[in-house]
Amino acid sequence: MQTQGTERARNTLNFLRRQITTGAWPVGERIPIEPELTELLSVGRSTIREAVRSLASMGMLETLPGRGTFVRSSTPSSALLTQFLGAYTLEELLSYRRALDIEAAQQAALNRTPDDIEALEAAVSTELRRRHCTAFASEEEPADMAGRFHYLMFDAAQNRLLASLYAGITDRLEAPEHRERLTHGSDADAMQEEHLRIFDAIKRGDFIDAVHAMADHVDHDLVVVTSEDEIIPPLRRSASAQARIDEARQRKGS
Ligand SMILES: [Zn+2]
Repeated sequence: MQTQGTERARNTLNFLRRQITTGAWPVGERIPIEPELTELLSVGRSTIREAVRSLASMGMLETLPGRGTFVRSSTPSSALLTQFLGAYTLEELLSYRRALDIEAAQQAALNRTPDDIEALEAAVSTELRRRHCTAFASEEEPADMAGRFHYLMFDAAQNRLLASLYAGITDRLEAPEHRERLTHGSDADAMQEEHLRIFDAIKRGDFIDAVHAMADHVDHDLVVVTSEDEIIPPLRRSASAQARIDEARQRKGS
């Protein structure tokens, strides 16, 4: 019985979190009231409350007395963590991010549910459709899409700590001093193919393939442009990747 209770709690938390990360419950909106959720999920009020408290501690939900519970962030975030990460260099942050991505890929291959597979598949296929319809893709979009795939993978990994740390890193990388030194090391087509490869391994439950595919991907999805005409990590560059790196270097120099 204990196990069933724990599983119900976990499923409830996963359901609520997915509603937020997928945007089904957009940031700023009020989530359904407790009785609706207890009916929808067939769980008790205390299970709902526990899940809401947990998401509130991650900064994703906020309960305002007498007004309801609101979505505050589509990703777990912690101001304290972001502040803590501020003490580290961009190179250190990227290496840490790489470790998190690889571990999450492994955990996702082991822990993914049919719902996770469906969500990841939808994210990957949207990316693939965009590839044939570039008119709708803006300069910023590939990065957003990539972010979505990665967040869904952390969802599938079912490890709240990994997800929180990843969100903290992502927030930190957005800081202007880091942002201007970062660029995408691969073009949209390569990125999408790599996501597809990672997804395929996760779907098959092949954690070894998932780890290798992710390691390969994070080696160049985000790279640091240094002042000494090099990028970190070092890699072989396609002509389009080199053009992007040159552009980032120019931005930095100007
Ligand atoms: Zn990616």
